[in-house]
Amino acid sequence: MIEQRKVRVVVVGGGTAGWMTAAALTKLLPSRCQVHLVESEAIGIVGVGEATLPHLRSFIERLGIDEAEFMAGTRATFKLGIRFENWGRIGDSYVHPFGIFGRGTSEVDLHHYWTRLYRAGANPGPIDDYSMACTMAYMNRFRLPDPDPAKLESTFSYAYQFDANLFAPFLRRVAEQLGARRTEGRIVDVELDAETGDVAAIKMESGERITGDLFVDCSGFVSLLLGKALDEPFEDWSQWLPCDRAVAMPCRTRTALTPYTGVIAMESGWRWRIPLQHRTGNGYVYSSSFISDDDARQAIVSAVEGEPIAEPRVLKFRAGRRKRSWVGNCVAVGLASGFLEPLESTSIYLIQAAITSLVELFPNPEISPADRDEFNRLVDLEYDRIRDFLILHYHATERTDSEFWNYCRTMEVPDTLQEKMELFRKRGRVAKYREGVFLDASWIAVYIGQRVIPEGYDLRADLPDAARLNEAMAAFRDEVRACAEAMPDHRAHVEDYCPMAVEAA
Ligand SMILES: Cc1cc2nc3c(=O)[nH]c(=O)nc-3n(C[C@H](O)[C@H](O)[C@H](O)COP(=O)(O)OP(=O)(O)OC[C@H]3O[C@@H](n4cnc5c(N)ncnc54)[C@H](O)[C@@H]3O)c2cc1C
Repeated sequence: MIEQRKVRVVVVGGGTAGWMTAAALTKLLPSRCQVHLVESEAIGIVGVGEATLPHLRSFIERLGIDEAEFMAGTRATFKLGIRFENWGRIGDSYVHPFGIFGRGTSEVDLHHYWTRLYRAGANPGPIDDYSMACTMAYMNRFRLPDPDPAKLESTFSYAYQFDANLFAPFLRRVAEQLGARRTEGRIVDVELDAETGDVAAIKMESGERITGDLFVDCSGFVSLLLGKALDEPFEDWSQWLPCDRAVAMPCRTRTALTPYTGVIAMESGWRWRIPLQHRTGNGYVYSSSFISDDDARQAIVSAVEGEPIAEPRVLKFRAGRRKRSWVGNCVAVGLASGFLEPLESTSIYLIQAAITSLVELFPNPEISPADRDEFNRLVDLEYDRIRDFLILHYHATERTDSEFWNYCRTMEVPDTLQEKMELFRKRGRVAKYREGVFLDASWIAVYIGQRVIPEGYDLRADLPDAARLNEAMAAFRDEVRACAEAMPDHRAHVEDYCPMAVEAA
């Protein structure tokens, strides 16, 4: 048998994107590629990005990493969803759960029954009360989901909240053990092949020249290869997602260890609250057209709920993505390919999705243009869907208390989102798609949580007698509550599950 030549992969950058790529390629394609990662400690990593989506669990699992070890190594906590405060109106609160509403056994989704009661004035209470993940989140309870699909305890999923500065080093150990090579130093130039336009080599400050067959640009916002050297245009989405800065400031944890990420709408954006084992991550994401850096800094300093452990740090960004993520022999992964603000913790998910597609479409050993186009199609799809979901949060508001919210409430949204909103408003239908990250429950949570209540509902929801429906809904709420109440406190569960103790609050 003729042995295939290994593809020489050069990964440019050692942040979350770089080391996730290196770990995945060395683990999943050991006989097809050799991985060489280049990073500069002097430049460092962006060092934020601590809240994730449940998909990351399968990534960790595919790498053969033990979950408890990973959580201890990154000082992680469990995450059942995101709690939104002050979005529809000041004082409003809802959870976007990782899980469904109801038991998942009825042909008609629960929110149709809920809408029927709501429209009849029968006060079905918040829709959150019909979700295990929401109820557990409000009660600070956590236990791993039950694998038995017949049980109510199987109706939720979970993700992690971890220390961004520990995640990349954790993956580095994994990748290096699997054979990834690493070079430390600053890249000063990128050499393009005069004939093909492909990346031929990167040049280091030390004078070293590193060549490869495939270059993965994980260089962060600077987009050293795809953006700078190859000049791939950037599609700017800031007319719909006007936030372009964040000021981050971690603090000691003084409050309960919540199994959710908090996102609290502010005058000109929103702030995050991410509880980890040893500290809480905080930051204010804002639009520089509506508030100054100084005022944003002041706002986060006043808002944090524990003693600060670092000075506030301002980060600048722009919403959008490169027109294509894979050009020639260069694939961009992570911030080098684009950025959608962290409201729904989607960046690390986008990294994972790009890596999954890269593994599936990996050169064999030549790069096929059809595979490259397919990769770009899949990346676009993910970005476009997430973009619409994020815009919904800003647009579906009744807030009139600041220029920022007036802009978001009245802005024109993409037709694709307009259509989705119309569909939901009329009859509570959620636009279905085969590929993409956020499924029905996510859209339902945000629509209803932000007061987009359907005018009608699935007519099959009219079948049960009104009194019996009321009773069944109340009984289900009680069952959910009792089930959550029987679970351990989140902090206690983390302490029990991970070998490393959680620092006392
Ligand atoms: C405010 C904010 C909050 C966020 N919150 C979340 C969140 O909650 N959840 C989530 O999923 N995502 C979040 N993200 C996104 C997340 O942080 C990133 O997607 C993730 O960290 C990946 O970054 P990266 O690896 O692409 O880039 P970086 O971490 O910036 O890494 C870039 C790498 O390239 C190297 N490099 C750059 N230039 C050179 C050079 N010339 N020579 C050598 N090396 C070089 C750097 O040294 C570094 O190793 C957030 C982002 C921001 C801005």
